[in-house]
Amino acid sequence: MRINNARRFLHITQSYKARKTPSFSGLSGLTIVAARFDSAPEGNGLEFFPAFLKLEARDVLLVGGGPIAVRKARLLLDAGARLTVVAPEFAEFFVDAEDRGRLETVRREFREADLAGKWLVVSATGHADVERFVARAADRERVFCNAVDDIENCSYITPAIVDRDPVIVAVSSAGTAPVLARRIRRQLESTLPARLGRLARIAGRWRQRVTQQIGELSARVRFWEAFFDGPAMGAVASGNESAVDGIIESLLKSSGTGGVGEAMLVGAGPGDPDLITLAAFNCLQSADVILHDRLVSDDVLSLARRDADFISVGKSPGCIANRQEEINALLVQLVSEGKRVCRLKGGDPFVFGRGGEEADALAEAGLPFRIVPGITAAAGCAAAAGIPLTHRDDAQSVVLITGHGRDSVDNLDWPSLARDRQTLAVYMGVRRFGEIMQNLVEHGRSADTPIGIVERGTTPQQRVLRGTLGQLPMLARAHRVESPAILIIGDVAKRGRNFQPALDVSRGDSDELPAISTNL
Ligand code: SAH
Repeated sequence: MRINNARRFLHITQSYKARKTPSFSGLSGLTIVAARFDSAPEGNGLEFFPAFLKLEARDVLLVGGGPIAVRKARLLLDAGARLTVVAPEFAEFFVDAEDRGRLETVRREFREADLAGKWLVVSATGHADVERFVARAADRERVFCNAVDDIENCSYITPAIVDRDPVIVAVSSAGTAPVLARRIRRQLESTLPARLGRLARIAGRWRQRVTQQIGELSARVRFWEAFFDGPAMGAVASGNESAVDGIIESLLKSSGTGGVGEAMLVGAGPGDPDLITLAAFNCLQSADVILHDRLVSDDVLSLARRDADFISVGKSPGCIANRQEEINALLVQLVSEGKRVCRLKGGDPFVFGRGGEEADALAEAGLPFRIVPGITAAAGCAAAAGIPLTHRDDAQSVVLITGHGRDSVDNLDWPSLARDRQTLAVYMGVRRFGEIMQNLVEHGRSADTPIGIVERGTTPQQRVLRGTLGQLPMLARAHRVESPAILIIGDVAKRGRNFQPALDVSRGDSDELPAISTNL
């Protein structure tokens, strides 16, 4: 199977040995999926019958020698067609391609006889009368004709394509709404993992063996369902293709005894659902169980599969709802039962998220898991407040610290944190603002150092407060800052003032004023 650079559209012919009819019923095994809108009157069936054509080494005629014809020629050549191009004039592309023996040109107007022996014709002249002439001749000769952007003169049309070779999703609106078809394609682009095709290829390699070993059809279908629902996609997505063979082996051994579970330690970002990654979205869509922190916003949770089980393992400051050991044990238990568990954490799972401990517990239990990073609160909040975490003039480094837990304020390396030209982003610091200020000033950081507090960053309830380090405890108290909030300390915090309204004590705004809420 050839893999070309210009692979976008016509994989069709490379991917299938014979003509194939796309399936309409979702992801049907390993083959192809096509979706289309039927513009035909009700009860009139399909206006266009979806099919994937194998053009390799077949004669195809292209009418037209201009830029639109060039685009079509590239695709047809990519599909391996034997191409003849008829036109009175040719763009340079055609002359070069003919020199390299890739196609044949005929320099004159189209004639009906040009269709003899052709499987397909594409008319790309941009002249409606020529397209009509070609289309009529093609009908008489029983050759399928596509007139570019001229649905009236088409006996076949080409769909918008999502290419996960060998999986191809084709979307057509039967010429009624190409922009809508392209939008749907974009949506599919974002939901189908980029490496889906590789998974399909691996499955293809195993297909025969699985068929031999699992004779009964419905059992085989169950096997493949379990395979595609299981950890294999995760392994491929994270570049660990070599693990997939092992997954298939163990699934074959356990076939009939239920699927293989998997844990996904997923970063949900700081709150705005638009800030989760495509990988996180896919995890949410495929998980049986969502084990989420209190911090994860409802908007993000609403992206999960509707029939998933939701378990909140909320931990809020000062109240230990679930001990970490209990969460680890629950995670291990669910995955051992064969569940696909999405462990959803605010921000990034590996930034003050205890994702490392959960990963250790899973590894120790020998269970498959993967990590999906997220936008950590410091990055999300800084962006929302217009504060760059580093800046050539103000800060060469950024240090993420927490005011809570094992590395709490008492154990921090204050002399190093008090250095100039670095930004501190303090997580879980709300209750310790006084100590943080004191320690930094004592160790030499100026009390005039700009600070920003971003509460509930990236959510509709976001508040941004600005001031100086010396004003920090007063500012937070006066405005009843609550968790979750990120404190950004450093010269960079003077930036972004014009970005959006914020209470700014350092500029002389009265602390009597109510804090200005900034709704995104
Ligand atoms: N793993 C998370 C951090 C968890 S610790 C991450 O990478 O972001 C919890 C702390 O994160 C909160 O106390 C707060 O300091 C910060 N935080 C999380 N979401 C926040 C938000 N939307 N706005 C402000 N701070 C947030």
